[in-house]
Amino acid sequence: MATPRPRKDPETDRRLAFPPGAKGKRTTAGASITPYLPQSSRRRTVPGRCGDRTSAEQNIEEGTAMNTTIGVIGLGLMGTAMARQLAQSGWTVTGFNRHPRKLEDIPTAASLADLAKGNETLWLMVSDYPACREVIDQLGETGIRDHVVINSSTIAPSESAEIAQRVESLGGEYLEAPVLGSIPQAQSGTLQLLLGGSKALIERLDPLLRSLGTPTHFGAVRSGAAAKLAFNQLIGSLTAAFSMSLGLVQREGVDVDKFMETLRESALYAPTFDKKLDNMVGHSFENANFPLKHLLKDIRLFTQSACGQGIDTHLLIGLQHVLEEGVYAGHGNHDYSSLFESIVHEEPTTRH
Ligand code: NAP
Repeated sequence: MATPRPRKDPETDRRLAFPPGAKGKRTTAGASITPYLPQSSRRRTVPGRCGDRTSAEQNIEEGTAMNTTIGVIGLGLMGTAMARQLAQSGWTVTGFNRHPRKLEDIPTAASLADLAKGNETLWLMVSDYPACREVIDQLGETGIRDHVVINSSTIAPSESAEIAQRVESLGGEYLEAPVLGSIPQAQSGTLQLLLGGSKALIERLDPLLRSLGTPTHFGAVRSGAAAKLAFNQLIGSLTAAFSMSLGLVQREGVDVDKFMETLRESALYAPTFDKKLDNMVGHSFENANFPLKHLLKDIRLFTQSACGQGIDTHLLIGLQHVLEEGVYAGHGNHDYSSLFESIVHEEPTTRH
């Protein structure tokens, strides 16, 4: 079934947020509107919350309906998975990548300017703060004014606050929306969206955000970014801690299965240990969902952010060192669990 596409304004050639000729709300230009519903929102019900109404229908009845077309900026591992999930949920999605990339199922724009012309909502999923900054600067006022910018890139709270300020000064609205979860969660629409920004904007975007997973509003801009770094610090520290224990168990010839069985029964167990066990035991890290280089970035960001808050980050200096070694050894684009290789060296060194 074809995705419903909003009509275009003949003067500006921009898609109208609400097409004219229908009863209901009025656009700023005075045209009547019919809110646009993504196909899947029509189908998807919200059990136990609002009978058999969909989340988008509920929004419309409550007068907070949104209608938008989405430009996803950054078609890397996560951006591609998120763009596909949004499109499969019925939204009209166009992608853009700095180094042009064609996707067979998602149209792509030739430039950021073209992307902004055709889409009211711009969803950023790029590597880091310099990339976010570059994208916002390239979009400029023409590309940002009257647009909503959702930023899911993992950046520091202070960096996100700076991007928010820049977007708002250019006449756009900003939502901080880093995500917890990786490619499988993006593909199944089960990411955790860690939101920082205005409650009203989040309510307006609710059906869109729910297409990717569960939104949690942490507070103002900075708070979603802070929560994300706090989670990613746990990813790094838990994986490093497990690597050391697994390494000793292996080197001492302890039965790994028995060790894991006992660990699973104990209060020390975290599911991430089992998720990464096969990678570590099999030294197989090539199928990356979350690359090591991004974990290094996030541990650096956590350290910088926490230092200024009176939190002792000495423990993380060692972790940073291990991750840097991993990048130098060529694991930058491998799964982050390859940090195991920097902790448990191939050849045992001097025995103590
Ligand atoms: P990725 O595969 O390395 O993709 C990075 C994307 O950023 C690419 O599309 C790249 O474009 C773009 N980019 C880099 N520098 C740019 C610039 N200066 N201007 C414009 N675009 C630029 O990374 P990813 O795994 O998708 O992660 C993206 C973000 O999500 C990161 O902040 C990461 O920490 C975070 N994150 C990742 C995961 C995960 O599981 N992978 C989960 C949660 C959050 P080019 O192709 O042109 O270089």
